Amino acid sequence: MTPIVFRDVDVLTGEEPSVLRGATVVVDEGRIRRVDPPGGGENAWPPGARVISGRGRALLPGAVNLHNHAAMTLFRGFADDMSLMPWLTTRIWPAEARLTPEDVYWGALLCMAEMLRAGTTAFVDMYLFEDEVAEAAVQAGMRAVLSPGIVDTDGRGPERLAQAVDFVRRWQGREGGRIQAMLGPHAPYTCSPGFLREVGEAARELDCGIHIHLHETEGEVEEYVARHGRRPIPALAELGLFERPVVAAHCVHVDEEDLAVLAAMKGGVAHNPVSNLKLGSGVAPVEAMLARGVRVGLGTDGPTSTNDVSVFLEMRVASWLAKVRARDGAALPARRSFELGTRGGADVLGWADAGRIRPGAWADVVLVRLCAPRFEPLLDLHSAVVYTLADADVEMVLVGGQVVLEGGRPTRIDEEKARAEVRARARRLVEGL
Ligand SMILES: [Zn+2]
Repeated sequence: MTPIVFRDVDVLTGEEPSVLRGATVVVDEGRIRRVDPPGGGENAWPPGARVISGRGRALLPGAVNLHNHAAMTLFRGFADDMSLMPWLTTRIWPAEARLTPEDVYWGALLCMAEMLRAGTTAFVDMYLFEDEVAEAAVQAGMRAVLSPGIVDTDGRGPERLAQAVDFVRRWQGREGGRIQAMLGPHAPYTCSPGFLREVGEAARELDCGIHIHLHETEGEVEEYVARHGRRPIPALAELGLFERPVVAAHCVHVDEEDLAVLAAMKGGVAHNPVSNLKLGSGVAPVEAMLARGVRVGLGTDGPTSTNDVSVFLEMRVASWLAKVRARDGAALPARRSFELGTRGGADVLGWADAGRIRPGAWADVVLVRLCAPRFEPLLDLHSAVVYTLADADVEMVLVGGQVVLEGGRPTRIDEEKARAEVRARARRLVEGL
């Protein structure tokens, strides 16, 4: 792998000090080796390094997309303008019943092209045929945490759990650790308490995390209370699920007891503001979560619920929503929102080496060009990146020091082929539905 030197570049570090102007960042053997002030460290560049000018640009930690169903590019535009339950039961589940493994491969690969173009270096996924998502991530060069989605509505839960356990055993730590695996029980309304207890036990045995949808809509929480006498989050804690690191997607409708459980657990919450807005699910109390010590990262949810898979868009909307919820323009400022979309997601996953630009961290970084008129006068880099940045401004992406996007285009994905495959396959999947 050729060492890379980003020279004379403004850096958003994701920690203190949060901004470095005109710095030099040296990447070698998959990691950030040096971060030097202007003019410093020139003698320490690795031999044969590729030197990239950072003039007019900024180097950022790659965004971590904490919740996705990447292959759902296949259904983008097929089920808009609906609430979650009718969306799932009348559109998504019938269409998903037609999916083949090849459909999932192409759908996921196209989403990875989209994520890379939007400055995302890592994502957490839950879906069917997750082996195909893993193969696509290997191809795309992205860092991925993959969980086969499992439900237990038809009595076939144990069979699916056995397959998921096998998936985790086969994929955990592959590609030098770039691919990780979790168990993905879909939600408390599609998995019985007894089954979730089994999932928790399996996760303990595998020493892996759990990825689950929690408290996305008010109705699902009320229904669970009517059936089981208590709210899902404390019930799941009692079942032992939170003894493992959990990526809890949504957590839109949470009370004080729920927040206390979330604050005490390993892992954290994947906040998906665009999906929650579009499906009419509600507004998650992110500031209350942060105030109580809950770890929070940002996710896009699947391309069918969000339509535009960009963590930077989620940062912007997360800030806006927090402000509207609090009726306070000072709520969730740009810098905080930027940290949620980068370091926040990494912290939920227990990755101390991601979401920061500092010596020793993984070289998962994004070079953005801030030369368009709409960035001037560029007084505040966090503001520019959260409130103004668009996909077209993303020039280069590295994952583990490997160049996976250059000149705004993924280096390892045939985008024309992926687009054509998804277009043709989507038509077949939704025909007559
Ligand atoms: Zn989801």
